[in-house]
Amino acid sequence: MKSLNVSGNRRKLLTGAAAIGTGSALVLALDACSTDTGGAAASETASAAAEVPDLKDLETAEEIWDALLEGNQRWAAGESAHPDADVETRQELVEGQAPRAAVFTCVDSRVAPELVFDTGVGDIMVTRTAANTFDPLVSESVSYGPAALEAPLLVVLGHQKCGAVTAAHDALAAADAGEEAEEAEDHGYHLPEIVEALTPAYEAAKEESGDPVDAMIAANVALTVQALKEHPNLAELVADGELTVVGAVYSLETGVVTEIEV
Ligand SMILES: [Zn+2]
Repeated sequence: MKSLNVSGNRRKLLTGAAAIGTGSALVLALDACSTDTGGAAASETASAAAEVPDLKDLETAEEIWDALLEGNQRWAAGESAHPDADVETRQELVEGQAPRAAVFTCVDSRVAPELVFDTGVGDIMVTRTAANTFDPLVSESVSYGPAALEAPLLVVLGHQKCGAVTAAHDALAAADAGEEAEEAEDHGYHLPEIVEALTPAYEAAKEESGDPVDAMIAANVALTVQALKEHPNLAELVADGELTVVGAVYSLETGVVTEIEV
């Protein structure tokens, strides 16, 4: 982090907001909120907050990743707390944001990061494409949270039964076998860019044992992590220890996110 010499939820928000030039406006907004939260509603909020660590208070990538995994355990157990989903938090964030993590994952409707990690508004900056495939345009979006807003953690999240990876695997396996790829006729849509983007993962997964699509999903996460670590917006942050990039896979069946070695 860049000279973070203050601590606490509100001050951290100011630090992040200042990075995008709205710090002073947020000071006023937050001061107003901090003196205006008495009564039963505040007690209930404090009670709920005591059980769930406030992501906005956390500074290190390790703390933030642990908190995201704890949120995932709540989600998997059907015990989501839905933190910071209230009007007060929404209004506090009007003048600026300081998300603590960036998450890059698939467009799959069953893999909603704010639900999967049980986070609130302003906590994580999410970029989604089919099978988290990327190009220069997408990479700039993914890197924005860490590079511009000082989020110290970037999570690349693949998932079980990814349709895009499965389609790419089938097309590439058919091509390997010398067969005509038939998915375009079958489905009436074309994914040539996605298939091309996933080809390195397909090649890497060939050397792995077990289910070939599962292996390709994990390989795609690992390759994406490596590529993002080398992105011009992120390489220096990674080298300086200001950004940690982790890879993980989400199980549709269990709801559990599992970190993978990259
Ligand atoms: Zn997917």
